[in-house]
Amino acid sequence: MIVVIDGPAGSGKSSTARAVAHELNIQYLDSGALYRAVTYLFLKSEQSLPKFFESLYSAQLTFKFDNEFQVILNGEVITEAIRDPMVSLHVSGIAAIAKVREFINAIMKKAVQHDVYIADGRDLGTAVFPNAKCKFFMIADLETRAKRRFLELKNLKKDVSYSSVLKSIKNRDKSDYNRKISPLKKTKDSLLINTTNLTKRACFLKIK
Ligand code: C5P
Repeated sequence: MIVVIDGPAGSGKSSTARAVAHELNIQYLDSGALYRAVTYLFLKSEQSLPKFFESLYSAQLTFKFDNEFQVILNGEVITEAIRDPMVSLHVSGIAAIAKVREFINAIMKKAVQHDVYIADGRDLGTAVFPNAKCKFFMIADLETRAKRRFLELKNLKKDVSYSSVLKSIKNRDKSDYNRKISPLKKTKDSLLINTTNLTKRACFLKIK
């Protein structure tokens, strides 16, 4: 069984989903982290995209929710590395490619057959888990989202400026909302939550 939260970057999806998963003792699935992992692999491979796709299915991409959502690629824990601004810069372009989406959707669907999950992403309610029992769509003002992401990156000791984070989020929004395959979109059967003026605790209570 799965509960899904879709929405743009910094809208509060991940922190809310994680808090609910802890409270209900269920699994958390951060689908954005999987797109980041493939992007990380591509950047590291230094290959052209067609060459990279030839080897994509031999990649061992696994994850576990162990207090935090951990991503493991070919035996290497890359949970922190995928938060790098370089990965953020390229992830929406990589995520717009059909082959990449097929690869990640298969991993997610397989995992959900075996456990109870709360998951967050962009197209979970529309394309990946259209029959999810509960669907939420979170939004917030652009500046609020950029401020949240900037503080998160500062906590991770990343050397970023607020304006670069704002620009990166704006670009990702543009790509995520407008891409041809599985764009970011609210479904009719999802509950809209505007988190601009909500604390993390208030977001948690809305969903729990
Ligand atoms: O959630 P996060 O901001 O880490 O996601 C990174 C990127 O991965 C998004 O900007 C989007 O391009 C892509 N993504 C996606 N579909 C999902 C989850 C994330 O295309 N279900």
